[in-house]
Amino acid sequence: MKQSQLFSKTRKEAPKDEVSKNAQLLIRAGFIHKEMAGVYAFLPLGLRVIENIKNIIREEMNGIRGQELIMTSLQRKELWEKTDRWDDEKVDVWFKSALKNGTEVGFGWSHEEQITEMMTNYISSYRDLPTYVYQFQGKLRNETRAKSGIMRCREFVMKDMYSYCRSEEDHKAFYDDTTAAYLRVFEKVGLGDRTFFTFASGGAFTQFSHEFQTITDAGEDIIYIHREKKLAINQEVLTDEVMVLLGVKREELEEAKAAEVGNIFSFGGAKSEQLGLFFKDENGISQPVILGSYGIGVTRLMGVIVECFADDGGIVWPEAVAPFKVHLLSLGKDEESEKIYQQLTAAGVEVLFDDRDMGAGAKLADSDLMGMPYRVVVGKKSLEQGGAEVKGRTEETGVIMTVEALLEKVK
Ligand code: ATP
Ligand code: MG
Repeated sequence: MKQSQLFSKTRKEAPKDEVSKNAQLLIRAGFIHKEMAGVYAFLPLGLRVIENIKNIIREEMNGIRGQELIMTSLQRKELWEKTDRWDDEKVDVWFKSALKNGTEVGFGWSHEEQITEMMTNYISSYRDLPTYVYQFQGKLRNETRAKSGIMRCREFVMKDMYSYCRSEEDHKAFYDDTTAAYLRVFEKVGLGDRTFFTFASGGAFTQFSHEFQTITDAGEDIIYIHREKKLAINQEVLTDEVMVLLGVKREELEEAKAAEVGNIFSFGGAKSEQLGLFFKDENGISQPVILGSYGIGVTRLMGVIVECFADDGGIVWPEAVAPFKVHLLSLGKDEESEKIYQQLTAAGVEVLFDDRDMGAGAKLADSDLMGMPYRVVVGKKSLEQGGAEVKGRTEETGVIMTVEALLEKVK
């Protein structure tokens, strides 16, 4: 893609009311547009990052036999009354509205109820189980504080998956498969070594729910990490009893600020009973379906990645999620640059080509701000030395390479 054709522009300053680092950088670099507090649009560059993250998640969810679908944002009140979660006292993030005929509707902040009731149309026998479904959906939540940029939004993208099993045993096996798949997702997006499987409150059926917490000062949670066991305990459940249960001692735990990037729950059969989701076993006996629910905050994850890796120059994208692999900068050598752009593109490398008529200083600063993994500079100096200057985003200095060597490096 040619940067001269990109409608979004970089800017020196973020809006004054934007206090979070991730949103400041993403706005300045032209990845997102702030609509209002906690509500952001994703521009072409930002959308490419979202799509990369989604594809990494999609591959893993398909790998554990998840089937992708997409539910609606408008939800019926009656549904949520069945599980006693319509009341604003019970759920404090509801956005609600009414149809012209006066019927109340809610905007989906979660989809357990909706998907589970829908499944009564498709699940009736043990032969229909297990079933795993997931979606990437825009969730709407009336959050009180929205000061963490895209990490806490009133409208955001979540991947939510739901598992329907015939027994606790089957459920547990899938829960473990999902845990492993989630850890692979966080590994692939570059957060593997700082993301911890965390014991937390919120299990409706079990003692715990499990969160995936990424260490960052921008996070809103406090967790206690056990590095050797590669697990953590959320502050909210840190008690002597829990430490004994997990076989850890307080002095082995390290306190850290973290952001919840994922959360998985076991619901047992309770919600299915409330919503009428039963199946007949081999003996014809009716039983509630065992439900599990599994979320990843897609847009929050993008914000966390920015927070974790950014440096003084700007964003640093891990290769797996970067909108483009190479940022090619022409410093007054448009013809030679165009040729390299064509060669890289023909080789299947995703390139953002800065073909704008601008000074070198501004181009180099923009390149740092936007954060592609490789910067390739083509100018008089580099051509005299036999090629283009290639530099990794976090490397101090670049090296001159021929186009062949460059292709070899970035393919
Ligand atoms: P939090 O405790 O941060 O408010 P939650 O526990 O209410 O989050 P879940 O219902 O578990 O969130 O949602 C699943 C995932 O969606 C979370 O792990 C998080 O990554 C993401 N998420 C939740 N709320 C938001 C939000 N307001 N903005 C962006 N992502 C969010
Ligand atoms: Mg949660």
